[in-house]
Amino acid sequence: METSLARIKKDIGTIQKFTSTPGQGCTRFSYSIEDKKAKNYLIDEMISLGMDVKIDGVGNLRGTYKGQCENLPIILVGSHMDTVKHGGSFDGITGVIAALEVIRVLKENNINTKHTIGLIGFAEEEGSNFGATTLGSKVITGKIASSELKNIKNFEGKSYYEVLEESGLNPENIDKERLDKKDILGMLELHIEQSIVLDKNNLSIGIVKGIAGTRTYGVEIIGESNHAGATPMNMRKDALIAASEIISHVNDIVKENGLSTTVATVGKIECHPNVSNVIAEKVGFTIDIRDLDDYAMDRVLKEVINYSNRISDKYELKCNIRQITSFKGTKTCEKINNIIEDIVKSRGYSYCKMLSGAVHDSAVMAEITDVGMIFVPSKDGKSHVPEEYTSFEDIKRGSDVLLETLLKLDKI
Ligand SMILES: [Zn+2]
Repeated sequence: METSLARIKKDIGTIQKFTSTPGQGCTRFSYSIEDKKAKNYLIDEMISLGMDVKIDGVGNLRGTYKGQCENLPIILVGSHMDTVKHGGSFDGITGVIAALEVIRVLKENNINTKHTIGLIGFAEEEGSNFGATTLGSKVITGKIASSELKNIKNFEGKSYYEVLEESGLNPENIDKERLDKKDILGMLELHIEQSIVLDKNNLSIGIVKGIAGTRTYGVEIIGESNHAGATPMNMRKDALIAASEIISHVNDIVKENGLSTTVATVGKIECHPNVSNVIAEKVGFTIDIRDLDDYAMDRVLKEVINYSNRISDKYELKCNIRQITSFKGTKTCEKINNIIEDIVKSRGYSYCKMLSGAVHDSAVMAEITDVGMIFVPSKDGKSHVPEEYTSFEDIKRGSDVLLETLLKLDKI
């Protein structure tokens, strides 16, 4: 019993055409016309398998394939439907298609699982509309109340609530459509790796041990603007000099205070007035720290704060530090990981256990249920770009592992 490469290829080929930027990568934002078309295609496929299908109040695609015992908790399988702007054809949707394919295989082999299988295509994972990630899963796990949707605004200032209503959804339904802990046995997500580890080491499968948490902070150094020619070097309050000292020390801070898995990035910097012949008055930059281990992230963060204050004092500058986001690291379920590992070993697939540096809906789901994540390789480690690619052979291998994992989980 195995998944079909031809069907997976056809599904991905069909859905990648639903893009608002043809020829320039895949752009399929939640609540767009392309999103609706992709969902309609999947809904037709799901109905042909005898599944019950609905789109919930926040736009998550939800289907159920009935098991023998309706009073048992369901096994969820899926990923997200949306993309970033000019993204690729594999991020997210590969996991939704793999879930669909797994159910097709169950149907064609007349396998009646004990548990009902729930297929889920999460909405708004990427943060493309509202600048915040994993909103679809946060809403259905109760992390965001329906009343809060009126306060979340898109880039045009329209509220999430209004966007949902305009796209024909009913956000009022959300409160009764929540997923309850007791109704779910576990969640399985297949996803492309979005990094280079599997491809570089020629591995077929990544078993995700955990999803890194994030601490994102904004650092602002305030000095004094003055004439670049007339101000002596010893009388300056140059914010950019201090900022550059802090930024260039971040690597050492991670080495000295983090673990081998800790990463930190200064990816954004703003300089004011940003004029070639004026001493910088104000420099703001972000620091993004990630790891599975919360203590490691906190140690790095503490030292970044200490060091920023020390350097600012040295130059007699002001330093403000504020938190932008903070997510804790999430461990996946060890029992499910062991099941996946046994399957991968028995099939003779090359694999490794790894962390996910990127956030996923599974991290949100882990708060209410046991989760397992299977990674398949991303060619050259590229993702969120039009060149994003995963071979269909790799997707099939991952889907077969997903199928077998689901069947083993069903027998527990
Ligand atoms: Zn994704």
